[in-house]
Amino acid sequence: LPEEEMKLLRTLQQLVGAGSFRSGQLEVVKALLAGEDVLYVFPTGAGKSLCYQLPALMSAGKFGLVISPLIALMEDQVRSLRRRGVPAVALHSELSATERRDILATIVPSHRPSELKGFFMKAKTPKLVYLSPELATSSNFAESLRLWSSHIALVAIDEAHCVSKWGHDFRPCYRSLHQVRNQLPASIPWAACTATATSKVRQDVAENLGLKGDPLREVLLPFDRQNLRYGVIHRREDRDFGGTYTELIDLTTAQPPESCGIIYCQRKSDCENIAELLQERGVSAMPFHAGLCKNKKRAAFEAFIGKPLEKSSRNPKGAKHPKSVKDSAEKALQPFPTERARVLVATIAFGMGVDKADVRFVFHAAPPKSLSAYYQESGRAGRDGEPALCVMFFTERDFSGAKQLIISSRGHSATTDIALQELDAVEAFCSNTEECRRSLLLRHFGDPSADKPPATQRLPSHCCDRCAAFAHVSLQGLLPPH
Ligand code: ADP
Ligand code: MG
Repeated sequence: LPEEEMKLLRTLQQLVGAGSFRSGQLEVVKALLAGEDVLYVFPTGAGKSLCYQLPALMSAGKFGLVISPLIALMEDQVRSLRRRGVPAVALHSELSATERRDILATIVPSHRPSELKGFFMKAKTPKLVYLSPELATSSNFAESLRLWSSHIALVAIDEAHCVSKWGHDFRPCYRSLHQVRNQLPASIPWAACTATATSKVRQDVAENLGLKGDPLREVLLPFDRQNLRYGVIHRREDRDFGGTYTELIDLTTAQPPESCGIIYCQRKSDCENIAELLQERGVSAMPFHAGLCKNKKRAAFEAFIGKPLEKSSRNPKGAKHPKSVKDSAEKALQPFPTERARVLVATIAFGMGVDKADVRFVFHAAPPKSLSAYYQESGRAGRDGEPALCVMFFTERDFSGAKQLIISSRGHSATTDIALQELDAVEAFCSNTEECRRSLLLRHFGDPSADKPPATQRLPSHCCDRCAAFAHVSLQGLLPPH
């Protein structure tokens, strides 16, 4: 129906400004509107959120319930929805009991049906409710779910790979989310989305969440990132720290002076040390890891992202919170940091859902735990479509050390085997001397374009250090062309 399509398009424009549907989005939206469950796998930045937000806006008198793994992600989404005039709230464990109660009251004000009547006609009623998986699966929350059940348009599980032990970010409470499914009417459509899922993970996610459909509707977008150039560098094994990271520091300082990049480290101490080494070389670099206090983390985030990370979104507009008034008064006194960081030296504490388009390089000081993690982390480069460089540094000791850690921390179990296999795939990716790195990555995700050369790249040899046919991986070969 053209009229229906027009309405979809208008709602889309309300959510993202101007524009039309991107690849894959309309198929997911239509399936959800038709009441089907959908599992969709789009690369980072493709626009997965819109696919569940839009059907929620289209449903009269109902809201979309979104499970999201990180508080920062939830608040970010709530903030951008409100900026677009869409009422939204986030519920998670960092809120005080009072804050939580106030927010709950805006969703469904009362247990009495007579008072519920007409409530959803009010403009302020949230159209999207973001909920942490911990709260969603806690027994205290069962009553709220019961109360909401006839007002939920759809349930969306964001970053759904967290359900699977085969994924790189397994979260135990994600695995309990099927309880939520059992508590809600079976007619509510469920959407599960992620940027990383091999066929094994997809199957695991679908089974575990109990997604329906025979066959289940899956919407998969190609994973090929043709503007990314991959390389791997075998680190020298000097004992002293400076020596160990010489190549990484050299490669970073050789990047164009205005370009932004992320360096991923496995340890907090490496973040600190590498940031310091870069500063000594005149590069504005900042560390970012879970060991920093809230203020430092925020300052580094803002210095890198280049926009303030507002904290006020947790309070619904119009609700009276003395605390939030105090917060904003304090915030007004603090000037926005003028400091800018070109390079963020981070652990994986930084990244999920970060929306910065002009990251020109992502370097890994040491290998990540899995190729999925590598794809996701390196994929934060070049989201504007312009060329970007992804280089991983490794030594054999990184792998032997990581394996020992897995075995000593988990003992012998199924998850140990999985973790070891994931690590083996990364090791094979690094030690590979023949095959195109891009092909290896794509094959890992079962993407059929793995065996085709990149179609749009200006230089076919540009996709990785292997295709460039260097005699050995050299810094020279990876430096950006001038
Ligand atoms: P993902 O979760 O897949 O990584 P997001 O849902 O965060 O991606 O979307 C990334 C960005 O793309 C957001 O800024 C969003 O507003 C924008 N976006 C999504 N869909 C569209 C569209 N159809 N047209 C224009 N912008 C869009
Ligand atoms: Mg997302």
